[in-house]
Amino acid sequence: MTKQPHELALLAESGRLLASVFERIDRTPLAGASTLQINDMVERFIVDDLKARPASKGQYDFGFVLNSSVNEVVCHGVPSASDVLRDGDIVNFDITLEKNGYIADSSKTYLVGKVHPAAKRLVQTTYDALWMGIQAVRPGARLGDIGFAIERHAKRHGYSVVRDYCGHGIGREMHEEPQIMHFGKPGTGLLLREGMVFTIEPMINRGRRGVRTEADGWAVVTKDGSLSAQFEHTVAVTASGVSVLTLRPDETGAGSA
Ligand code: MG
Repeated sequence: MTKQPHELALLAESGRLLASVFERIDRTPLAGASTLQINDMVERFIVDDLKARPASKGQYDFGFVLNSSVNEVVCHGVPSASDVLRDGDIVNFDITLEKNGYIADSSKTYLVGKVHPAAKRLVQTTYDALWMGIQAVRPGARLGDIGFAIERHAKRHGYSVVRDYCGHGIGREMHEEPQIMHFGKPGTGLLLREGMVFTIEPMINRGRRGVRTEADGWAVVTKDGSLSAQFEHTVAVTASGVSVLTLRPDETGAGSA
């Protein structure tokens, strides 16, 4: 479950490349684009420019390089030519990238054009909740500390944390042990040790936490139709704390979505 130094270096390289994919999306006008167009743009960038492999394509028979989850879609939305982003939408792009055999995983929720302040607040709070979780990571802490920090922040704003999906260890495989819950009790769960690498990826709903899967078998939506946001980073436990392997150059932590 813990990675060797040479593996951590390779994971950091994959993380750095994946961060540059989000910088590429940052420069792309989203309003009027279909989620399939964004998928295709990202695929070309990963394959042609970064000489890397989009790890999601082919995994679990998924045919795309990203998941695009719009508004009430919690996660696992499938890119489509008919899914055109409109002013006021929020959309999460969840992307994995493999380079030299090691996989990084990250997601970001984007505001499309002029977004209602209530939706903006959900997105910012979700980003900050991710960072509350990240800041709980250090050797000697426990998994429950991460989940507790995330859920406490979400609840403070009157939101709920989705419990049906979780973060995960990552390395040569996209999904490794352990599972990272986004709720929990402080001081409980697996002890964190230097060299562990995993994702933290809270999904936070404006309404209740219940979700259901759409008829396509992929897209997960809120049961009550409320908006949902998500952010994800791949992190490594270091000797003294945490290193965010998928950190983007514009990020300084909580408060900077
Ligand atoms: Mg993930």
